[in-house]
Amino acid sequence: MIQLKSPREIEVMAAGGRILGATHRHIQSAIAPGISTGELDAMVEAFIRGQGAVPSFKGLYGFPASACISINDEIVHGIPSPTRILRAGDIVTVDIGVHHGGFHTDSAWTYAVDAIPPETQRLLDVTERSLHAGIAAATLGNHIGDIGHAVEEVVVRAGYTVVRDLVGHGVGTSMHEEPQVPNHGKPKRGPKLQAGMTIAIEPMVNVGGAATKTLADKWTIVTLDGALSAHFEHTIAITADGPRILTTLG
Ligand code: MG
Ligand code: MG
Repeated sequence: MIQLKSPREIEVMAAGGRILGATHRHIQSAIAPGISTGELDAMVEAFIRGQGAVPSFKGLYGFPASACISINDEIVHGIPSPTRILRAGDIVTVDIGVHHGGFHTDSAWTYAVDAIPPETQRLLDVTERSLHAGIAAATLGNHIGDIGHAVEEVVVRAGYTVVRDLVGHGVGTSMHEEPQVPNHGKPKRGPKLQAGMTIAIEPMVNVGGAATKTLADKWTIVTLDGALSAHFEHTIAITADGPRILTTLG
C-alpha cells in the first residue's frame, strides 16, 4: 500500500532532508585522494548524529555502516572500509539515509575524486540530468512509468544504459515503501501519482551494459562488465504545486 503523507509530515521529511543535504556538503570537501571510505563513513555518522538524527542505513537489513560508498564499477551498497583508499581519477558514490522525526530520507551522489577524464565527467552529468528529468516528470496526472521513461530517455540518448535490477522506491516511516520506482518505463503505466506521495528517484547509469553482479561480501553490486557506473538520488514529495525535492544539497 502506498502511504500518503500529510503536509505536516512532508515538512518533517524536509527537515530530515536538509540534514541529509548538509551531510553531503560536509563530506564533499573531504573527498580527495588518500582518504578511506571508512573515514568518510565515520564523518557521515558523526555529522548526522550531531544534528540529532540517526543514519538510516546503519543496521538496515544488517548493513554494517552509515553510508553505502561505491567506487568506479561498484553501482551500490559498497561497504566502507579503512583499507579502501580513494585515488585521483576515481568516481565515488556516497548513498546516505537520515532518520529524523520518525521519517527517513534518502539521497545519493557520485563525486569525482580530484581530476577525472572528460568522458567520466560526462557520465556524471548525464546521470544527474536523468535524475532531474525523472523529477520533472513526477507531476499530478502522470504515473510512475512516466518517471522511468523520462530517466531512460536521457540515458539512452547519451549512449549509456540504466540498471534495471535496482529501483527507486517510496520512502517515509520505512526506508523502502511502495511503490517501486524503476528507471525505465512506459508513459501512463504503473501507479498514478498522488499528492502526498514521497519517493526516492535514483537512476543508476552504466557506461557499458546494464547487467550487474553481487560480490562475495553479499552487499556490493558491481557492473558485470567492469565498466563505470554513476548514481544520483533525491527524495521528493509529489504536491499539487509540482515535485518538491526534500533532500536538496543546499
Ligand atoms: Mg539511497
Ligand atoms: Mg534509495
